[in-house]
Amino acid sequence: MGTAKILIASNNPDKIKEMKAILSDNFEPVSLKDEKIFSDPEETGKTFEENSEIKAKFALEKSGLPTIADDSGLYVYALNGEPGVYSARYSGENATTEKNNEKLLKKLEGVRDRRAKFVSAVTMLFPDGRKIVAVGECYGEILETPRGKNGFGYDPLFYVPETGKTFAEMTAEEKNKISHRAKALALFEERLKNIDND
Ligand code: IMP
Repeated sequence: MGTAKILIASNNPDKIKEMKAILSDNFEPVSLKDEKIFSDPEETGKTFEENSEIKAKFALEKSGLPTIADDSGLYVYALNGEPGVYSARYSGENATTEKNNEKLLKKLEGVRDRRAKFVSAVTMLFPDGRKIVAVGECYGEILETPRGKNGFGYDPLFYVPETGKTFAEMTAEEKNKISHRAKALALFEERLKNIDND
C-alpha cells in the first residue's frame, strides 16, 4: 500500500502518538485536527470492537479518507471486566486520570486477585466499504500504588510481571513493543497485507 494517507480517528494525543509511532513506517498518518474534524460520535457500543467501528465510521463519513480507530480499555478480572468500555469515563462526567485511578484502587482495596488486561480493538474502514478489525491484549496486574511517570491513563498502576515494570516505567519504545495497541496494530498490518493481495 506504500505510504498511503490514513486518518487516525482519535482526539487522545497520547493514543495518536503511540499509533503514529507504530504505523508511520507504512503510512502517512493524519489526525482529526489535520482534517479539521472537531466533533466526536457518542460511544454507544457495548464492546471495544463496536466502539472502534463507530469512531472509524464517523470520521470516514466526515473525511472520505481511509480511517483507523482504536477503542481500548482496562479489563480487571476481580471486577468482572470493569472499567472496560467505560475506562475513559470510569469516575463519571468530569473524569480525570487521577480520579479514574483512585476509583480503581478503591474498588480493589483488600482484593487479592489483581489480574488485569489492557485490550485494544482497531477498526479500519475504507471508502469502498472494506473493513479490517484487529484486537490486541496485554496481560498484567494492578498495583496498590502507582509507579512511573511515562505513558497515560492507568499506566502507572499496570504492572507487567515479565518486564518487572509498570507501563509508566517503560520508555515509549518498550511499551510500544508489548502493548495491547501494538499487538492490535501488528495484527492489523498483517490483515492489511492480505486484503491488498485479494
Ligand atoms: P477510548 O479513548 O474511549 O478508547 O478510552 C480509552 C481509555 O482506556 C483511556 O482513556 C485510558 O483510560 C484507558 N487506556 C487505553 N489504553 C491505555 C493505555 O495504553 N494505557 C493506559 N490507559 C489506557
